[in-house]
Amino acid sequence: MSVPMPQHAYVDGQYMAIRDATVPIEDRGLQFADSIYEVCAVLNGRLLDWPAHLQRMRRNLSALFIPLSHSDAALGQIARRLIAGSRATDGLLYIQVSRGSARRDHGFPGVVHPRLMMTMRRFDFHQRAGQQARGVSVMSIPDQRWGRVDIKTTNLLANVLAKQDARAAGHFEAWFVAEDGTVREGGSTNAWIVRGGTLHTHPLSAHILPGIARDSLIRLARAAQIPVVEAPFSLDDAKGADEALLTSTTAPLLPVVSIDGQPVGNGTPGPVAARLASLVADEIHRQTGWRSR
Ligand code: PMP
Repeated sequence: MSVPMPQHAYVDGQYMAIRDATVPIEDRGLQFADSIYEVCAVLNGRLLDWPAHLQRMRRNLSALFIPLSHSDAALGQIARRLIAGSRATDGLLYIQVSRGSARRDHGFPGVVHPRLMMTMRRFDFHQRAGQQARGVSVMSIPDQRWGRVDIKTTNLLANVLAKQDARAAGHFEAWFVAEDGTVREGGSTNAWIVRGGTLHTHPLSAHILPGIARDSLIRLARAAQIPVVEAPFSLDDAKGADEALLTSTTAPLLPVVSIDGQPVGNGTPGPVAARLASLVADEIHRQTGWRSR
């Protein structure tokens, strides 16, 4: 009996196996990084924080004047069909919308047909439990990105190079540092420190991505009476902090135990990170029924 191929990709109205999914060579996402994207966690077959991801995607589309005609309901239907088609219960749903294909020319084409692409890939969120217990290390790197990194575009070359440098040096993440010494965020995560029981993270601005996990952690912490300050902190502040941590869709909360080889606090995950991790785990469970083993 033949088993049907999992269909975990969607491009321009068609569902297919990921290895059969392609885009035309003149897609503007490929030519110019003229495209936006989202990454959503799927746990127990359910999408985490889906409305927040949709809302951010709409904001990014309008910032770049990409006229996607799909409704939220239509996007949700495609996402759910892909999740079912992938036969995975835990994974990452990737959405990308480019300004479509056109003869190569920097200015927008006269008529734009945005290209919607989605994939659903298996992802093991259980692996994060070990990293949460041990903590991870980060290294600092100068922020050489463009000035509108609050828009989630596929223009990620500076992030790619930073994360590669970090990985090659044995670190989990690179933290982008501005010329004035301010820590902005990680290559694919938001950055936090804890001082005197208060959480600090960079305020929303053109210099950081408004992370969905960041927003969620701020709400959860405040609801649990843990004070949160959205204000810049320096690399020296971070190195001298009681604790540090990072957040993202793929790493909902990981303690940072060393920065540039220097231990943060006593070099092991601290009590505030542990408390926050349990708040995040409860929220994930509330939305999806998922628990780490
Ligand atoms: N900053 C950057 C640069 C990122 O790429 C990401 C992940 N997309 C984040 C922060 C975290 O965002 P989120 O919590 O929405 O995954």
